[in-house]
Amino acid sequence: MNGFKGYEYSNASVNPEKINDSIAQLKIPMSRNPLGKTFSYLLLESKTLIDTGVPTEEAYQGLKDQLAEYNLKPQDIERVIITHLHNDHIGLVETLREYGAEIWAGAAAKKRQEEMVKEWENLYENTLNELDLFGGQQYRNNITRHQYVFKSDVKPMPIDRYLQDGEKIKVGDLELEVIWTPGHSYEHICLLNQPQRILFSGDHVLPKITSHVALYSYRNHDPLNEYLTSLHKVEDINVDTILPGHEWVFHDLKPRIEQLYRHHRDRLDEMKATLEDGPQTVYEVGSKVHWDSRPWPEMTFWTKRMAATETYAHLVYLLNKGEIKRELRGDTYYFSL
Ligand SMILES: [Zn+2]
Repeated sequence: MNGFKGYEYSNASVNPEKINDSIAQLKIPMSRNPLGKTFSYLLLESKTLIDTGVPTEEAYQGLKDQLAEYNLKPQDIERVIITHLHNDHIGLVETLREYGAEIWAGAAAKKRQEEMVKEWENLYENTLNELDLFGGQQYRNNITRHQYVFKSDVKPMPIDRYLQDGEKIKVGDLELEVIWTPGHSYEHICLLNQPQRILFSGDHVLPKITSHVALYSYRNHDPLNEYLTSLHKVEDINVDTILPGHEWVFHDLKPRIEQLYRHHRDRLDEMKATLEDGPQTVYEVGSKVHWDSRPWPEMTFWTKRMAATETYAHLVYLLNKGEIKRELRGDTYYFSL
């Protein structure tokens, strides 16, 4: 591995855990993120990993140490199946691919990567434009000061096999059914092992935190509608064990999904209630929402920006349902009842 910044590595909390005879849960450290770690699931017989971790020396060391517990090295991994294209899930894919692993992902990853390449071509301009559209003009300096962040070239990740929604794949002793679950990200898939009643849920359903569902102004999606539809798609699946991308293993899928429906409905209602005071911008609505993480004034600009994209996802959902209206005044969207 090269190009990584130096990390103080401690293996204090990186003991892998066996889920059953076929599956082990590796805890890939991510010390700079409040989530703390990403789970990578090792399918023992087929030497397959589901997801990896962030692209850091710390994460790679964590992966290596935990593979060693099963007498494996990164070179032994035959394939990586990724649930979605976020950095904390694909960070080590490139290294494993260089060592010879095949990379499998949901079929929608192809379209998503094509979109991403286009978005990056004008990302700086798109981002400034988005601040105007969202009514966040006062934050302009935060973007212009960090222009370099928007300049790196993004290259599509080579994917060796695209998995279709509903496809059943056999990896070693495990049969996995692919379930396309767009929302948290467009290409997101869950993997179901029906015989053992196990669902690999990625970031689609997590036991405690609600998955970030965001919309940027330059994307043409209704991610909250996609997300709620994707929750519906998995809510009646008969499973006992849910293996998520973060937090912890859990067992009650349907009650958790009901909580998530309620959470989003409450948030939609909260946003509609703020619009009773008259037309407002995305940043204005976002500043009035009761966020779970921390109050709006305590957020850094980058967290506010995440909250704004989450707000916009909810507003676009309401707009498409005909519950609210949108008007462009100058360069800025105003939402109203
Ligand atoms: Zn994640």
